[in-house]
Amino acid sequence: MTGLAFHIDVSSCSGCKACQLACKDAHGLEAGRLWRRVVEVEGGEWTRKGNAWCSTVFAYTISLSCMHCERPACMTSCPTQAIVKRADGVVAVDGGACIGCRYCGWACPYGAPQFDAATGTMSKCDFCADERDAGRPPACVSACPLRALDWGPIDQLQARHGTLAQLPPLPDGAQTGATVVISPPARMSPLSPDCVQLANDEEILR
Ligand code: SF4
Ligand code: SF4
Repeated sequence: MTGLAFHIDVSSCSGCKACQLACKDAHGLEAGRLWRRVVEVEGGEWTRKGNAWCSTVFAYTISLSCMHCERPACMTSCPTQAIVKRADGVVAVDGGACIGCRYCGWACPYGAPQFDAATGTMSKCDFCADERDAGRPPACVSACPLRALDWGPIDQLQARHGTLAQLPPLPDGAQTGATVVISPPARMSPLSPDCVQLANDEEILR
């Protein structure tokens, strides 16, 4: 696996959403269009064992954008070949070729492509091409007060942080070859992934 990727350190993320806002600000995204979303996850339970109460309760937040996949489902579903995977690994939408059918949004397991009503085309994270051209990190990385986000070539990120690319309730990263590195939260549920649920689904699933 090659190309640019994000590192998401879930153990450091406080869920403040500065990354989400910085992304909206950098790209002029109107209300409801999110290229980066902070997902709130919770689960677990209290159980009684004799006179003791035992807890498996947990909560964490994951800051998600397009995973710039190795085998992008968005790209293969597009009837006009408007989505391309560039040599640097970034998966990009060509607004001139997009007809706004939204197939890519339905095909993406992460729901990353977002419809732009003003242009009638799909839009998504472009890894902050303008910021990188100016020699700066992507806006979300710069904005994070806890340094929970980082970016760089996937092989370098994996050498530093490992190869985890999935965390409940995210889909299996192997499905599309998600080009991402995730550091897990300090406390994860020892229960099955079925016990994990979204806490802010009304906010992020639009
Ligand atoms: S996360 Fe979704 S939009 Fe991004 S490259 Fe993968 S399939 Fe395409
Ligand atoms: S800015 Fe950093 S700490 Fe705040 S939600 Fe985003 S990743 Fe988490």
